Amino acid sequence: MNRLRAIPSVERILQALGPVALPRPILLHVVRRELGKLRRARNIPAFEAVVSGLNTTLQNLRRSRIQPVINGTGVILHTNLGRAPLGPAVVDTLGAIAANYNNLEFDLTSGERGGRAGYVEQSLAVLCGAEAAAVANNCAAALVLILRHFTSGPRKAVVISRGELVQIGGGFRIPEILEASGAVLREVGTTNRTTVADYQRAIGSGTALILKVHRSNFFLGGFVESAATTDLAVLARKHRLPFVEDLGSGAVMATEKVGALEHEPTPAEILREGVDLVCFSGDKLLGGPQAGIIAGKNRWVERLKREPFFRALRCDKLILAALQTTVDLYLESAAGIPPAAAVPATGLIQTSLPDLRARADRLADALTDLPVRVVVGQGKARVGGGTLPRSILPSVTLDLQPLHFPVSELLVRLRHGDPPVIGFLAARRLRLDLRTIFSTQDALVVRQVRVALEPTASASPGSRA
Ligand SMILES: *Cc1c(COP(=O)(O)O)cnc(C)c1O
Repeated sequence: MNRLRAIPSVERILQALGPVALPRPILLHVVRRELGKLRRARNIPAFEAVVSGLNTTLQNLRRSRIQPVINGTGVILHTNLGRAPLGPAVVDTLGAIAANYNNLEFDLTSGERGGRAGYVEQSLAVLCGAEAAAVANNCAAALVLILRHFTSGPRKAVVISRGELVQIGGGFRIPEILEASGAVLREVGTTNRTTVADYQRAIGSGTALILKVHRSNFFLGGFVESAATTDLAVLARKHRLPFVEDLGSGAVMATEKVGALEHEPTPAEILREGVDLVCFSGDKLLGGPQAGIIAGKNRWVERLKREPFFRALRCDKLILAALQTTVDLYLESAAGIPPAAAVPATGLIQTSLPDLRARADRLADALTDLPVRVVVGQGKARVGGGTLPRSILPSVTLDLQPLHFPVSELLVRLRHGDPPVIGFLAARRLRLDLRTIFSTQDALVVRQVRVALEPTASASPGSRA
């Protein structure tokens, strides 16, 4: 009895917590949940400890709300940080479409019900040199749609090279996606070598399609061979099988011309080589919103769009609007490379080293009065998002070593800031790669570093300042 009486009341806790920037029902939910735990606990901690524990829990919860962060990791398409940031033209479109009614499924010419996504499908088809295109929620969804459609009949086998049974990021494994789609995996070749003859031998009466998967996030070297796309196209045609490629990254411009070392195959190239359908992400090298773009033969695209399952994978008006503007930016630009500021993901790849160095010097100058050692370092940025694994983009970093507390503490303080600044530790320094920090954020970075170095900065939970 006494033990339970030691548990503080909700009211008393709320008073001690003071104002919390969370909706009251959330706050109450958390407080009641924690008090419930106390009721079952052996020992009841002191009131102050209960309040301080709750404070940490609530801060962590508040921090988990989706919010802008400053990306100092040097990874441009960082999947954990939301992949491609959108440029001003796309953001303006989003605002206008979000705040107003729009002609999502209304034909302004006839005044009647209209098709959804008609314009963006057409412009994507032009961008990809394809007969037709369709848009799903993401590339994984696009692939599932394709696999389900072509394996819905008695033919279930999908022929794929053992060298392409890849895992992309967390939780996307090609063999598992195939199985989940109802397809039967028919692996051919070996990890390092697969020939057209391997595919040829595997094709039988149960074959539904030939699938190629772009090795987005790794590369094979040494004693390797893979079947040429053009040869596989001939084979597929001979057996009247659809030939599909999951391209993943989906660069529509010549990546080697914008600072990446590797040439990323474009959807147009793949289709020219005889692939019937290609799918790729909207928020990787295209630099648009999350989407899964399917492009290729009109006959197949039309059938996919008629699948009842397509309804469950379709994009909303905001995504379609953002994608439409992104595609316009490519189609309207000289040599198919949009201005750096228009598509930030591709713009960041193109930023020159002298530009980055000049910014780093200015940032370092702005921090000289602080208790921190500042060095301008050399960085190795990456495109990320499971793309261009061989392309290291030379970059410039701002390296910080606080004088009065451990560097790991600075990492946490910056991450807990508002806005959070995400850096990384290397050689006992906190490093911020400037390639992924927009120049417009430089002043903010200075402010956040200043705040993080203040002796009063609240220590992070569990760490010692
Ligand atoms: C990234 C990737 C995917 C998944 O794309 P999402 O748009 O994230 O669903 C699928 N296949 C390949 C080859 C990829 O690189």
